[in-house]
Amino acid sequence: MTNQPGTTVDPQPGPDVPEVMRAAVLFGPGDIRVTDRPVPRPGPDEVLVKVAMCGTCGTDLKILDGHFPLTPPFGEFTPGHEWTGAVAAAGARVDEFAPGDRVCIEAHRGCGRCDNCLAGRYTACLNYGDRAKGHRATGMTADGGFAEYAVHHVGSLYALPPPLSYEDGVLITTAGTGLYGLDVAGGFIAGLDVAVFGPGPVGLTTVQVCKALGARQVILAGTRPSRLALGRRLGADQVINVRETDPVRAILGLTGGLGADLTIECSGGPDAPQQCAGATRRGGKMVVVAFYPGPVTFDLSAVVRKDISIHTSRGEGGNNVKRAVALATQGKLRGAEMVTHRFPLEDIATAFRVVRERDGDPVKVVVVP
Ligand SMILES: [Zn+2]
Ligand SMILES: [Zn+2]
Repeated sequence: MTNQPGTTVDPQPGPDVPEVMRAAVLFGPGDIRVTDRPVPRPGPDEVLVKVAMCGTCGTDLKILDGHFPLTPPFGEFTPGHEWTGAVAAAGARVDEFAPGDRVCIEAHRGCGRCDNCLAGRYTACLNYGDRAKGHRATGMTADGGFAEYAVHHVGSLYALPPPLSYEDGVLITTAGTGLYGLDVAGGFIAGLDVAVFGPGPVGLTTVQVCKALGARQVILAGTRPSRLALGRRLGADQVINVRETDPVRAILGLTGGLGADLTIECSGGPDAPQQCAGATRRGGKMVVVAFYPGPVTFDLSAVVRKDISIHTSRGEGGNNVKRAVALATQGKLRGAEMVTHRFPLEDIATAFRVVRERDGDPVKVVVVP
């Protein structure tokens, strides 16, 4: 592989890269099928990755149902935004990676030219969805990882160090979401009482990073006992089953009646923002990183009366996937333990049925091309 900086000639893929691949394509709401597609060719600043596995998440269900803005047209769009794999070919201006390198990703690539990108806020790119201007969000506004191969901008790829598995790599992307939320809310949480709502993959990775960043105690609230038990194993100091216990009262009880310094809403449950507000102490912070099934009703006056700051963030911006790789490499972020189900690509429709129906109590379901 020759890489000559400054040239714009697309690379010839290696001899082991085929012309055609199997890829899942969304043909209509709820209609995802695996079909033959041309293997994409990386542009000069892009990398072609042989996908090892791709995680499914709640956002994929919205994409599948056709309820996600700016997705490419039905019949030509491959979703999947939590993928990992090995470099198959590097673009002409790429010298950061070489074929065979194991990589994980962040999903968003900003345009690099708008005000927000210039300020480093590329998940809030003002050219969101505009491929011609260089923005791409893999599996959301551009083809993603439910396929044998995917292309990605070199700036959104991270080396996956040897001790980490591809399962870990999938959850590193997920962990970037909670880390970015903390980043946006100020970042410094050593000594604080933190409550995390929602023991899904985002919540479970957020629990671990809060512990790693020195929180005084991390309280995890959710509905499913198996996930709460996993949260315990992954480092939560306290867990609250909100079906059995009022989480606001429980969190006040665990924080000397004050409430948590920081609450992080990862559940997407319509009642959770109100519960977070109730469980946050005066002058504390709320971070919302979830998506909701519809508009949420919320007593904002109570938030104002308590002087609570609300922060939101989308995805895994701020270079936080790099931080997630570092924490995982140090053993402070365990991803593979969250992977409960694996399906071959050809069975992707079954994989999504399992995710939607929560059949077999899945945490992270991955698809293996
Ligand atoms: Zn996701
Ligand atoms: Zn931009």
